[in-house]
Amino acid sequence: MDLFEYQGKQYFARFDIPVSPGGVADTVDEAVRVAEASGFPVVVKAQVQVGGRGKAGGIKLANDIDEVRLHAGNILGMDIKGHVVKRLWVEHASDIDEEYYASYTLDRAAKKHLLMLSAQGGVDIEEVAAKDPDAIVKLHIDPVDGISEATARQAAVDAKIPAKAVDGVATILVQLYRCFTEGDCDLAEINPLILKPTGEVHALDAKVSLENNASFRHPEWEEYRATEELDEREQLARTHDLQYIGLEGSVGIIANGAGLAMSTLDVVNQVGGQAANFLDIGGGANADVMAAALEVINFDKDVKSIFINIFGGITRGEEVAKGIVEALGRVDLRAPIVIRLDGTNAEEGRTILKNAGIPESKLVSKPTMLEAAEAAVAIAKGK
Ligand code: GDP
Ligand code: MN
Repeated sequence: MDLFEYQGKQYFARFDIPVSPGGVADTVDEAVRVAEASGFPVVVKAQVQVGGRGKAGGIKLANDIDEVRLHAGNILGMDIKGHVVKRLWVEHASDIDEEYYASYTLDRAAKKHLLMLSAQGGVDIEEVAAKDPDAIVKLHIDPVDGISEATARQAAVDAKIPAKAVDGVATILVQLYRCFTEGDCDLAEINPLILKPTGEVHALDAKVSLENNASFRHPEWEEYRATEELDEREQLARTHDLQYIGLEGSVGIIANGAGLAMSTLDVVNQVGGQAANFLDIGGGANADVMAAALEVINFDKDVKSIFINIFGGITRGEEVAKGIVEALGRVDLRAPIVIRLDGTNAEEGRTILKNAGIPESKLVSKPTMLEAAEAAVAIAKGK
C-alpha cells in the first residue's frame, strides 16, 4: 500500500526522522490556518501519488496569506498526470543548501535489503542512474545485522556527501532503516534529503510503501486504507479477496498462481496483445473464486477477451469449469472466454464445459498457452 507524502512524513516522524512542521488541508481556508500555525514562508504541496509534482506546478512557495490562498486555490482540483488533487500538505518552508537521495528497498534476488544513496538528489533518481550511475552508492544490508552508524557514515562518504553533512545523513540512514524494517515497508525513500544552511539534515519529501502482508501487526494502518487510491476494479477485487492489479490493456487475465499469471502477461505481450489486469486466483481455487474472478474482470469496460490460463495442481479442472459455468449463468459477460485448461482433472473440466452447451462465441478452448494467447489477442483486436 502506497502512502501519500503527508502520511509518509507522519510515519517517518514515528522513527524520529526530522520533517518540517505542517499539516493537511482539504480547502483553501484550512490551508491558511495550517500555514499560520506552521509559520511563513510555507510550501503548499499537492498530495497525489505520482512523482514530479514540482515540475507539474503542484508545489508552490507562499510568503503570506494571499499567496497561500492563490496557490492552494490553484492546486486543489489540479490534474497531475491523471491524479486529481483533493488534499494539500502545507509545511514551513526550508532553506536548502544541497539535495540528496536515500532509499531502502528489498533486493529479493540477493535476499538482502538495499540502501541507495546519492549526493545528487531532488531530481528523478532514474535520471541519475541513467546519466551518472556512479553517483549512486548501492549497499546491500544483511537483515540479520542491520546497518550500524559506522556503516551508514561510510556509505555517506562513498556517496561523496560533504563532510559537514555526513553525521546528519548517517543518523537519518539508521533511523530510515528502522522505519523500513520495524515499520514493515517495501520502500522507504527520501528525495530530496536536504542539508540546510544551519547544517541540519532533514527529509523534505517522503515516499513510503507498506508491505500488505504485514498488516496483521499494524492495526494503525487502518487509517491509511481509508485514503488508499485503488481504482474501482481493485476495490471490487478486494471485496472478493482476489490478488488483482488493474492494467491498461484489453485482454482480461485469470491464472492460478502468481508465476503463471505473470507468464500469461508475458505471453499475451509476446503475441502482440496487452493485458487488462493481473489476477491470480491462487492454488485450490473453487467454483466460487472463479465466478468472483470473472465478475471482477467483467467489471472492466476495456476488456475485449478473457484469457483463463489454468495449470491444475491443487486447483482441480472440474472446479474451474463449474465456476465458469456458474459465472456464465450469473453474469452476462461482455467478452468471450478463451481457456487453456491443463493439469489435474483437466479432462473432467473440459467435459463439463462441453456439456454445458456454451456457444463457441462465448467460450473457446485451446490446448496450449501460446495458442490460447493468440486466440485471446485476436479477439481483443477484433480479428
Ligand atoms: P516531487 O517533485 O513530487 O518529488 O516533490 P518534492 O517534495 O520532492 O519537491 C520537489 C522540489 O521542490 C524539491 O526538490 C525542492 O527543490 C522544492 N521544494 C520542496 N519543498 C521545499 C522547501 O521547503 N523549500 C524550498 N526552497 N524548496 C522546496
Ligand atoms: Mn520528491
